[in-house]
Amino acid sequence: MEDCLFCKIIAGEIPSAKVYEDDFVFAFKDISPIAPVHYLFVPKTHICCAKKITADNSVQVAKIFEAISKIAADEKIDSFRVINNCGEDAGQSVMHLHFHLLAGKQMGWGEQSLG
Ligand code: 5GP
Ligand code: ZN
Repeated sequence: MEDCLFCKIIAGEIPSAKVYEDDFVFAFKDISPIAPVHYLFVPKTHICCAKKITADNSVQVAKIFEAISKIAADEKIDSFRVINNCGEDAGQSVMHLHFHLLAGKQMGWGEQSLG
């Protein structure tokens, strides 16, 4: 999709530190990490947000979680958090569905737990 930052990263038009790629999934390091491990997992086709996940495209979400499981095993990440922000109030700043993988620090719970 034109003018989508993450579509441009997937296409290689904007550089990123890639950590994983398969037919469905692209994963790369977050440019402003909030934990020692902070990767972003995105579907290769443009889906704006979690509100647009349907029976027709949910396989891409399943593939993302398979990739997260694989990366966690490969990198011996025993404990981690997966976050999806959907919509402005939730803090979504890039309108291409993505899941944050966070690890490597003790995490609290609640609104300010990741700041
Ligand atoms: P959101 O706030 O939408 O849930 O997450 C968007 C994430 O994308 C943020 O954590 C932000 O740091 C990251 N981000 C924004 N622009 C870039 C970029 O150009 N490259 C990379 N690697 N991450 C980005
Ligand atoms: Zn996109």
